[in-house]
Formats: sequence, structure tokens, C-alpha cells
Amino acid sequence: MISKIKPFLSLIILAGVLLSGCSANRMQSSSSSPEVKNIILFIGDGMGTAQVYAAMSVSEKPLVLESFPYTGFNNTFSSNNYVTDSGAGGTALSCGAKTKNGMIGMSPDSTVLTSITEMAKKNGLATGIVSTSSVTHATPASFVAHNVSRNNYEGIAADFLNSTADVFIGGGEDHFRKRKDGRDLAINLKEQGYDVVYTLEDLKKSTADKIAGLLAKEHMPKASEGREGMLAEMTRKAIETLSRDKDGFFLMVEGSMIDWGGHAKDFDYTISETIDMDQAIGVAKEFAVKDGKTLIVVTADHETGGLTLTGGDMEKRTVKSNFIDSGSHTAVMVPVFSFGPGAESFSGIHDNTFFYGRFLELLNIKK
Ligand code: MG
Ligand code: ZN
Repeated sequence: MISKIKPFLSLIILAGVLLSGCSANRMQSSSSSPEVKNIILFIGDGMGTAQVYAAMSVSEKPLVLESFPYTGFNNTFSSNNYVTDSGAGGTALSCGAKTKNGMIGMSPDSTVLTSITEMAKKNGLATGIVSTSSVTHATPASFVAHNVSRNNYEGIAADFLNSTADVFIGGGEDHFRKRKDGRDLAINLKEQGYDVVYTLEDLKKSTADKIAGLLAKEHMPKASEGREGMLAEMTRKAIETLSRDKDGFFLMVEGSMIDWGGHAKDFDYTISETIDMDQAIGVAKEFAVKDGKTLIVVTADHETGGLTLTGGDMEKRTVKSNFIDSGSHTAVMVPVFSFGPGAESFSGIHDNTFFYGRFLELLNIKK
């Protein structure tokens, strides 16, 4: 009996693979799991619950985040420190494994890990990275690069030549073009079919399937200093471009500077960056509502600044706040918000290594 069924089953599987037009690892969804075609992961670097609640308190209108039906927590310790940095935190989210602070896409013994971006790419999905920092900075780097040190920006830039990300948009032009080795990686990117653009205007005009948007020499300006709303536009362009792939896409968007506001112990900086990322989440949600097969997960790599809210006024929309003296990262759990098919599986308390495996399951990609 079994021997008769087997060839029949393989035929069905083969047909499914041919129909879906992608490699053998990605199967058709089974009826028990929701159909997830696309995943958009937002990382608010340094965004704890106090940052979110402060943003909710001062914002004139409700945050998009408040409409997400499922919430949870994620714990963030790294392999060698109760308090993580963004390298180990990003790697846990992107590769599903703990590593030492400062490392990018590698295990503590320097073994190269495979990221969700690489797995998505291998399985026929389009992939994208968007950040307000340089794209070579720890968080976006964790989704594309492999390096023993987050500070090796030029080495990390070279990893973008592996075409792990079809679209990457952020700062970082100098790490590609003003390098100690004298190379201009923009030339290589063009050879690989990327439209390389340096302004938001040119980004918006691009019709290419592969786009390298290097919108600042290093990091982009603060939202409060001329960048407000740009993350939303960068996210819109990434979704517009990646969603042309019939196999689906994986996109990571980082609100990089929520963390920097915490380090600077600057409440307005922290909160304006949180609200700015929420606008980008709004763009993603608009797409997800129409599409119906897009999962959005919003979380953080860690909290920054030990922000606490000691008072406030809901009518005047003001908050009294305090940061810890060091303004450094803390170990508290960070919030998770999710929307779309599969969103319920992110409620509860999970480790930061949980996301990678669950994303693969939802996309029907074998590890
Ligand atoms: Mg970051
Ligand atoms: Zn930080």
C-alpha cells in the first residue's frame, strides 16, 4: 500500500514545486497552517515598552501599532552577556542563534550562520533591507553579512555583493565607495544588475527589480532634522519592488535611531524616531490589509536607556521621563506586535532566537 502511495505523493509534490516556480524546499502550505506569502519584520532598535507607551502618549493620533491584534515579549540576552548589543541581537533575530556581542551573522566560534534573508533568497523569494542608519550598521548587517566584528563596515559592505538582498535602502555610501582598498563597490553592484541611487527622488523613480539605495554618506539625518517620513517612503518603495516577485518576499525594516535617542538620553529624539517608524509600519499594514497573505512582526533587539515614565498628562500629551545614567542598553524584555496570517504564533514570551525558525515554518521553507 505504502509503496503505491509514495510515487503518487512525489508526483503531487513535484507538481506543487513546478506550479510555485521555486526550489524544492518550499512546499505548498498545508491546510492547517495559514498561508503566508510575505513577511515584513520591523526592528525598533532600542525600543522597549516605555518607548512605545511614551510615543502613544505624545502622539496626537493612535499609533498603527495599537491596532495590531497580537502582542508578546521577546527576551534578548546574548551568548556572552545578559545585556545584548545590536550585533548579537540582530543575529539572534536573523539567524536564530545566540552569539557574542559585536558579532554579525556568526556563532561565537566564528562559524558562518545562515540568515532568514539568505534562506528566503535560496527559496525564490525576493528580499529587502531598509534602515535609517548605514545599511552596514549592526542591525541591517545581521541580515546580509557575516563578520566577527560589527565595526568592519567595509567588509560588511562587500557582503552586499552576494545579492542576499535584492533591495537595500539606507545610509552607507562611503562604506561602498570611499574605501581603504580603493574599490568602488557601486560599480560591482551595477554589474550585478542593481540600480544604484543616492537620493529619495531617484529611489522613487526607479523601476528596477534590484535597487541599492545609498541615501547618505554614512547615517541618514534624524527624523527631526529633515528625515521625517522618509522611512515610510523607503518602506513603500521596497514593498512595491519586492511584491512583484510571485514567490513572495522577506523584508526587514529598522528604525535605527530609537536606540541612538536612548544613548543620548534624549526623550524627544527617541520618541520622534519611534513615531517615525510607526508611519512606516502604517505603509506596511496598508499593503498587508490589501494583500491578505502578508505577516508583519514588529519587535526590538533590546531596550536602550532604561527609559522610564515618571509622570505625564494625557490631555496635554506630555510625558515626564527618565533614562539611566549610562544611557546604555538594558536587559528587559522587549515587546512584539504582530498582524496578518500567522500573527498569533508570536504572542506569549519567546526567545529572540524563536523568530527565524517560525518565519521559515510559516513560509514553508525547510531548515
Ligand atoms: Mg541598529
Ligand atoms: Zn545601542
